[in-house]
Amino acid sequence: MEALYYRQLENKVVQCTLCPHECKLKSGSIGICKTRYNDNGVMKLTNSGVIASSGLDPIEKKPLYHFFPGSKIYSIGSYGCNMKCSFCQNYEISQYVPDGNSGLKENLPQDIVNKALFLPQNIGIAYTYNEPTVFFELMYPTAKLAKSKNLKNVMVSNGYINPDPLHELIDIIDAFNIDLKAFNNEFYRKQTGGKLVPVLRNLKAIKKNGNHLEISFLVIPNLNDSTHEAIEMFKWINEMLGSDTPLHINRYYPAYKLNEPPTPPEKLIELREYAMQYLKFVYIGNLHFSDIGTNTVCPSCNTTLIERHGYNTKIKMVDSKGYCKICGYGPIVVLS
Ligand code: SF4
Repeated sequence: MEALYYRQLENKVVQCTLCPHECKLKSGSIGICKTRYNDNGVMKLTNSGVIASSGLDPIEKKPLYHFFPGSKIYSIGSYGCNMKCSFCQNYEISQYVPDGNSGLKENLPQDIVNKALFLPQNIGIAYTYNEPTVFFELMYPTAKLAKSKNLKNVMVSNGYINPDPLHELIDIIDAFNIDLKAFNNEFYRKQTGGKLVPVLRNLKAIKKNGNHLEISFLVIPNLNDSTHEAIEMFKWINEMLGSDTPLHINRYYPAYKLNEPPTPPEKLIELREYAMQYLKFVYIGNLHFSDIGTNTVCPSCNTTLIERHGYNTKIKMVDSKGYCKICGYGPIVVLS
């Protein structure tokens, strides 16, 4: 399949315009994400319609805590990524891409939407597991069709996408979870191969458009766990996106090329305490043996609104419109 976002230059060179890398490719070359290549002056995909992984997941696993809490969502992912994080927790599908001739099944948007409609108690489709930007050509028509059938669309992303494709998505994706991997461009350059500024720009664009937005921050010992830097991040979220933006501070475990020990729980708790000075909803994720920082609490009257134990979610004190049943604060969560 031909790629949607690219331009043709002289001598059959093509330039991808999907993400800020803007790879320029000679005939026969492949992009950083390994999902787009130059076939004699035409940019084509190696992952056309390919689904590497799928499942009916709790929405909390994305993680989204303020968007249909307690619901399930059909989740799909493909191969490839436009970042090269040394600590990638899904590296088997993000950093490995089978070549375009490997005979993998090409899924059509109609098939994916039909499956989503058939699954019991499913609210929609999440584009997740690997970076959905690099399967834009499958995600976009699928999300458009899903929306027409009243399914919800969720994108779980590193936020590294150019403004034009993002604006197309913003109209059809209901909720985003975006990774903010650090508040430091040097970290982005060295550890991910990307840049911080486009991610910040995209976070602001998503919020400005009014889409539901939650942020994930994976805390890695000795790499992005500076308290000072984290506080700068929390302040930025407060000022640019609003204090009601849910933030998930997640525990790192050794994966792929990185062998640092898992994040000490005390570090996560400390960062959460700082974050709560600027943000109303701050959660701790991946701390499997503990429920610290998992409940949703009303910032006005301190009532526990939603209780979580692992992926077991109980909505306790939220009305059908997402407001606190005790003091009326809100809306806090999206329920319709
Ligand atoms: S999507 Fe892939 S090919 Fe396109 S600019 Fe980004 S990394 Fe390069």
